[in-house]
Amino acid sequence: MSSVGPDQLAPARTRPRVVIAGAGFGGLTCARALRNVPVDVLLLDRNNYHLFTPLLYQVASALLDPGEIARPVRALIRPLANVEFRQAEVTGADLERRSLMTDRGAIPYDYLVLATGSQSDYFGNASLARHAFGLKDLDEGLALRNRVLSQFEASRWVTDPEKRRTLLTFAVVGAGPTGVELSGALSELIRLVLRKDYRDLDLREVRVLLLEAAGSPLGTFVPALRQAARRSLEKKHVEVLLDAKVESATGDSIRLGGGKEIAAGTIVWTAGVRASDLGQALGVPLGRQKRVTVESTLQLPGHPVVFVIGDLAGAIGRGAQLPMLIPVAMQEGKHVAATICELVGNGGARAFRYKDPGIMATIGRNSAVAELGSVHLSGFLGWLMWLAVHLVNVISFRSRILVLVNWAWDYLFYDRPIRLIVRARDENKD
Ligand SMILES: Cc1cc2nc3c(=O)[nH]c(=O)nc-3n(C[C@H](O)[C@H](O)[C@H](O)COP(=O)(O)OP(=O)(O)OC[C@H]3O[C@@H](n4cnc5c(N)ncnc54)[C@H](O)[C@@H]3O)c2cc1C
Repeated sequence: MSSVGPDQLAPARTRPRVVIAGAGFGGLTCARALRNVPVDVLLLDRNNYHLFTPLLYQVASALLDPGEIARPVRALIRPLANVEFRQAEVTGADLERRSLMTDRGAIPYDYLVLATGSQSDYFGNASLARHAFGLKDLDEGLALRNRVLSQFEASRWVTDPEKRRTLLTFAVVGAGPTGVELSGALSELIRLVLRKDYRDLDLREVRVLLLEAAGSPLGTFVPALRQAARRSLEKKHVEVLLDAKVESATGDSIRLGGGKEIAAGTIVWTAGVRASDLGQALGVPLGRQKRVTVESTLQLPGHPVVFVIGDLAGAIGRGAQLPMLIPVAMQEGKHVAATICELVGNGGARAFRYKDPGIMATIGRNSAVAELGSVHLSGFLGWLMWLAVHLVNVISFRSRILVLVNWAWDYLFYDRPIRLIVRARDENKD
């Protein structure tokens, strides 16, 4: 592998170089927190944007456009004088030589922060990997939006009601927050918006299914909120199938454990997540969900200048791996920046402690569940809380305004203007 020469990066360096792999919540927070530390930061990502994942399901359900939930990394780091961005695929690291491998060459580092997040896990099930849509990045969000809208268009040409029913059945597998939010939003898109576009649509031919292998949705919430979420989903015409383990899929059906088969033209997989492949490429010990085992300081064991954060890291809190959540990634990013600051000044590393701000999930208009310590909210109150928290955290002021306008438009007029089927052509021309 060729080495990326110093002249291809920043001018001659006199300060330590911190290389951060991944400009998601963990990596970007770390880069920002290093702004006043005497280091040069190189931030790498395979995409040129930072994605606000909590609203990705709203891109898939035609409520928001990609530009409202993603921002170019270069725009975000503009105020950070010591941070440079390069788009590159990170493929591994030579930990002994202190060199990060990318598709652009090897990059030497003094400190390395690995924050490449996670990916869908189909648990080795080839039929699910082939036929189910994932919902982890913008490309997948857009692919799903195209699929949903295309199924409705295609259904208008089909005269066989059985075939039409299959085309118009959307099966979301996994009733964690993403599955719950997506199925609620899809059902509302169909019943409140598309119903008006397709005047001859028979709603009895449309199904949104939410399949969950466990006995209730939202397994990480307290039982009362799980029940509230289930009731709310059912009110919104989502068919919640519990104790339903999906074993395999074809292009137009899913098979459950026990052999039951359900015709479904679109399958979405939100039931499994594992850490990014970078962990495996490092050849270091991995924990559950293939997350990299780290010290309590978030350092890689035996490599004190290498840190792993966010979904990729299997940091332990209260005896278990911390959940794959934004507050975990952001707090870890800040902690590692503070540690690097200490190390540059010849100090030492301190243990990371996670402060849990709570969890929430929305189920379409007027309904959400929120568990904030001992405060448990559901229904309209939960929804107001969800709206406020997400609006405040959307990536930029511009996005906040656009998101607010789209939400208000949808709420007041039962309309989602972004119902476009747009496919990217291959942009690689000779
Ligand atoms: C649909 C969805 C909804 C979610 N909703 C919530 C929510 O409401 N609340 C919450 O707390 N959490 C939510 N999460 C989880 C949350 O997104 C993650 O926990 C968080 O993003 C982890 O931060 P991270 O920095 O580890 O990874 P990410 O934020 O995923 O960032 C990883 C970055 O690394 C880049 N990358 C990956 N591999 C490579 C590579 N090989 N080379 C170069 N770049 C690479 C990616 O492009 C990405 O920019 C949601 C996740 C999804 C998918």
